[in-house]
Amino acid sequence: MDIYRLLDAAVVGLVCLLIAFIQLTSQYYVLVPAYGGFGSAETWRKLVPFNVFVGLIWWHYYLACNTDPGRVPKEWEPPENAVIVERKKSGRVQLRYCRTCRSHKPPRAHHCSSCGRCVLRMDHHCPWLNNCVGHGNHGHFLRFLFSVVLGCSYIGILLCLHLFHLYQTNQSYYDPVTYTPPPELHQVVLLALNMIGSAMVLIMVGGLFAYQVYCTGYGTSTIESWEMDKIRKMIQQGRIPEATFPYDLGPRANFRSLLGSSWASWILPVKPLGTGLSFPISVMKKGTCGCKI
Ligand SMILES: [Zn+2]
Ligand SMILES: [Zn+2]
Repeated sequence: MDIYRLLDAAVVGLVCLLIAFIQLTSQYYVLVPAYGGFGSAETWRKLVPFNVFVGLIWWHYYLACNTDPGRVPKEWEPPENAVIVERKKSGRVQLRYCRTCRSHKPPRAHHCSSCGRCVLRMDHHCPWLNNCVGHGNHGHFLRFLFSVVLGCSYIGILLCLHLFHLYQTNQSYYDPVTYTPPPELHQVVLLALNMIGSAMVLIMVGGLFAYQVYCTGYGTSTIESWEMDKIRKMIQQGRIPEATFPYDLGPRANFRSLLGSSWASWILPVKPLGTGLSFPISVMKKGTCGCKI
């Protein structure tokens, strides 16, 4: 195993450590004692939902890391009349071909230099997963991001409420009726670390989740979204004729293509629709092209 593979695996280990740190220390050292221990009904009422959310995070993270994003079958040949051509800078139109893999590329597939192969409907290579996000695991990746947003929001609210409670009880230290012993130093430190940690994760993952939802709504992968930005500029400059992105089927169909056709499957892991080798295209307007744009 080379050094880069080792570093990639270490990043996944760090993500696992961060999830475990927030899950365990926020509850065991901070919230469980604050709610009256494991025998208290309040502990279970407030912390069972959090553990369900964290369970979803572990599950979807495992699936996103370990599900093959999709590879081009060896025997695959480009079918006739398919949208598998690309326009070169010279204006020449040719079949999509990967010179590294020495094989034709299906529509929306891209070569990932980190994975060393072409990936079906590649979205991006994610170092946090040590895996590409592509046709096979994009749904798991979206569910993972959503679970993180849910879990961090929930624990963030509980920790903020606890901090507010500490502030209130601090005002009544000298009242013998409402006196509550102050928290120990390690509990204060862990409360601060968990609040900072969950806030940072929420901001970063929340931003990524919002961008993913935006791209999915328009039916594009992250790579295609970047390509679309370039295309729009070229159209504005009059360098190429107007073109329509052919895989945008409307928001509902776009989300269904990644997350499954039923609402239940949007939370529970299911296999994505289709093979990842061909995709339905929207009805194109007059004057548009079905080229990879
Ligand atoms: Zn390739
Ligand atoms: Zn990759």
